[in-house]
Amino acid sequence: MAMKPMRQFRPFELLAKETLAEGGEEGFPVRRFTFQLPEGCSLESLGFDMGLGDCVQVSAAGSVRSYSPVSPGQRAGSFDLAVKIYPGGQCSGHLDSLAVGDQAMISGPAPVPWLAHALNQQQHVGLIAFGVGITEALPVARSQLAKPVDVVERVVLLWGNKTWMDVFWQEELQELAQQHPGRFQVVFALSREDHEGCVRSRIDPPLLQSTFGDFAPTAGFLVVGTKQILGA
Ligand SMILES: Cc1cc2nc3c(=O)[nH]c(=O)nc-3n(C[C@H](O)[C@H](O)[C@H](O)COP(=O)(O)OP(=O)(O)OC[C@H]3O[C@@H](n4cnc5c(N)ncnc54)[C@H](O)[C@@H]3O)c2cc1C
Repeated sequence: MAMKPMRQFRPFELLAKETLAEGGEEGFPVRRFTFQLPEGCSLESLGFDMGLGDCVQVSAAGSVRSYSPVSPGQRAGSFDLAVKIYPGGQCSGHLDSLAVGDQAMISGPAPVPWLAHALNQQQHVGLIAFGVGITEALPVARSQLAKPVDVVERVVLLWGNKTWMDVFWQEELQELAQQHPGRFQVVFALSREDHEGCVRSRIDPPLLQSTFGDFAPTAGFLVVGTKQILGA
């Protein structure tokens, strides 16, 4: 069924809801919300370019918030959002209150102009994500890895969290690394605890040096994360 781009807010039915991470010390969980699209319709067919960070907007209780779809743009029939639920959060709280079968008012694509301009396309691509900023970084990683190897030779994703309880998508990230051996690498950094397979560190100059030190001087970088953490 043909569908016009989601320029205006329209109701989308919630098909599924799943907890991705319980949240560490601060205890803010991250949940995946799957919304229905008309049969045969994908976000890509609605004009979304996930590699440029196009996001949807959700309207709740008079507020509008942006969310990055995290399912592949070509997936037909539904799309996923991964949302950190803040106590008292107008929009995240509203989404969390929905039961399967309920509807949310959603529009898009809403371009994120700074994302399109922030990543200067280069053969070596560094993605630095703080917390739930991974929702913006993962679609960009997928899109960069879909480019020919002579255009994008390596993608390294450095993902910073406080604790292992904040981390999710371990399997998706591992799968992506297996699909692109030697070309994609993910580095998990935890600032508040030791965990096997993770670096115990804040995202600071020594960690940036050890993660990206062998990158070409012309490498392109994208940094995504919450304002609070970026400003910290
Ligand atoms: C381009 C873009 C893409 C985004 N994509 C995603 C996404 O994919 N997933 C996602 O979860 N979020 C994403 N966000 C953030 C999202 O838009 C909202 O800002 C977030 O969900 C909080 O909105 P709220 O209405 O629930 O909380 P609000 O009602 O605005 O805030 C309520 C309380 O929640 C707490 N709070 C709010 N934001 C934060 C924060 N960042 N850190 C700590 N405490 C906070 C504060 O205590 C605040 O007082 C994105 C933002 C942008 C700009």
